[in-house]
Amino acid sequence: MFARLEMAGLNLFPSKPVVSKLTSPLVSFSFDDFPKSAATIGAEIMEESHILATYYLTGSNCQSCFENVEQYDGDDVLRLYKAGHEIACHSYAHPRLRGRTKEEIAVDLANNLSFARALIGQDFQFQSFAYPYGEFDASSRGLMGDSFETARGVYRGVNKATIDFANLRTVPLELRRFNAAYLRSHIDDAIKNNGWIIFFTHDVADNCTNYGSTPKILFDTIQEVKSAGIEVLTVRDAARKIMAAHLPTVSTS
Ligand SMILES: [Zn+2]
Repeated sequence: MFARLEMAGLNLFPSKPVVSKLTSPLVSFSFDDFPKSAATIGAEIMEESHILATYYLTGSNCQSCFENVEQYDGDDVLRLYKAGHEIACHSYAHPRLRGRTKEEIAVDLANNLSFARALIGQDFQFQSFAYPYGEFDASSRGLMGDSFETARGVYRGVNKATIDFANLRTVPLELRRFNAAYLRSHIDDAIKNNGWIIFFTHDVADNCTNYGSTPKILFDTIQEVKSAGIEVLTVRDAARKIMAAHLPTVSTS
């Protein structure tokens, strides 16, 4: 109960506020953990639609089964990276961050970076983070805000007006809650407010879990986004586009 109240309070008060000056809406697609099918079926759907997505990588899930769902392997990560998708951080061991010390979290983050570098290359850096289970406390949110360009939770909504880059809102594309009206309401919100929607899901299959998407859910969402003429960027690139609007313009005269 206390945890829920604390999260509700933290959601109200941003720790890394950025006032958005976007003059048009943005959309990002992201996959958490991530299941093998996100890297195969999901990536195929994204690439057919010329979309680059963000894959929040959990190192300890490699070649494993997480909650009965087959997870990615090392070759998947390298292929996604080479195709231009963003490989982002979702912790190494998928711990709940509430109550962890900064030292414990730093060790976990270092493990995930070493893991990604062994697959991709020693110069590789993460820019984006997603909280395991969407959970954090004031201390871990502060640390993630300092350690990454953005950190995404699971608090539902469209990022608009003053955006907390240490607690980005998200719109789950999950079988258990998806329907056409749900999708349309978030897209209308983004259009009306020049907002940024970060969709997230897990596995992609006709018989997906409740936390995943069917191929139809992804196709319908992409169709709706494209027909509204909304630009699609990775989380990293969308965040950088928002930050770029804050840079002073250099006068050449
Ligand atoms: Zn996760």
